[in-house]
Order: sequence, then C-alpha cells, then structure tokens
Amino acid sequence: TTINLEKFCRDLIEEFSTLESSCPEIIFTCHSDKTDAVMDEVLLHYLFINLLSNAAKYSHENAKIQFSLTCNLLTGTAIFRVQDQGIGIPETDQEKIFDSFYRASNVQSIPGNGLGLVIVKRCVDAHKGKIEISSQVGVGTLFTVTLPLNQLPVNS
Ligand code: ATP
Ligand code: MG
Repeated sequence: TTINLEKFCRDLIEEFSTLESSCPEIIFTCHSDKTDAVMDEVLLHYLFINLLSNAAKYSHENAKIQFSLTCNLLTGTAIFRVQDQGIGIPETDQEKIFDSFYRASNVQSIPGNGLGLVIVKRCVDAHKGKIEISSQVGVGTLFTVTLPLNQLPVNS
C-alpha cells in the first residue's frame, strides 16, 4: 500500500510519546516534499517503534532524540535517521547487536531481551533495505535506515 512517510513518522512519534511516560523529547525533521512510498506499514511500525524505544531507553530523560526523514527520488530511497544523545554502544559490541539475545556490556543494569534489533533487521531485510550504526560511548548513537521507496516486503 502507499504510505505517506512524513505522516507515518509524525503519527508514530505522537503514539510513542503518549505510550512512554518519561520519554525524552523527539524532534522530527522532514527534508522532502514528496514522501509517498509503497511499503508495508505494519513492518515499518515495528521497525521504528523499536529504534525509538531503544533511543529512549538508553538515554537520560532530559536528552533529545532527533528523528529525520529524507526521500531521494533520484535514487528511489527513503533515508530515516534516529539519533540519540544516550550511553552509546562500545565499538566491540557494534557488530553483534543484531544477534538474538545480544546486549552490550554497558547496558547490563537496564532491563531488555536483546530482541528488538532482530525485529528491526528482519523488517529492513524484508524491504531490501540497509541499516547502519554510528555510535560513541557517552556521546550517543545514530541509526540510519535506507529503504527503497517502492518495495513491498519479500520473505526473509
Ligand atoms: P529488547 O528486546 O527489549 O529490545 P534490548 O533493547 O536489549 O531489549 P535490542 O533492541 O535488540 O535489545 O538492542 C540490542 C542491544 O543493542 C542493546 O541491549 C544495547 O546494548 C544496544 N543498543 C541498541 N540501541 C541502542 C541505543 N540507541 N543506545 C545504546 N545502546 C543501544
Ligand atoms: Mg530494544
């Protein structure tokens, strides 16, 4: 189905902010006028709820979360960025965090199952997209998700 990604992002942030009692402020920026895409809205919802939930869980309450959307019609891709000012991911853990039940050494006092990013990866793969991490301990984490604008999910 056709989804307006800007509306999808704004609705998601509103839903997420009402669900979470002590959520850091989420600042959304849309860099494109045309943001229609053919994607699976349910999978997209799982994907970004999990990224926002991590950004909130691994940040202090007074930190900010930046969420941005750019649609590139020339390359036919949507680029989503979720950036937090939280605890960060140690470099040695970064390649393993998409593995089931894997949790980094600096989050052991914070509850979690190590499964959210497994769902995220499945949703990205189903859309033939990619996900990249850039993170520094004590500074924050940036997840960049690039998805084709016209890709209904494939089995993965
Ligand atoms: P849950 O299954 O409830 O989501 P979880 O958050 O521990 O538990 P994942 O979402 O899969 O599991 O994340 C895996 C690990 O990646 C986390 O335990 C944490 O170490 C690291 N991580 C993910 N996102 C962030 C983030 N934004 N900031 C810091 N660490 C993160
Ligand atoms: Mg999680």
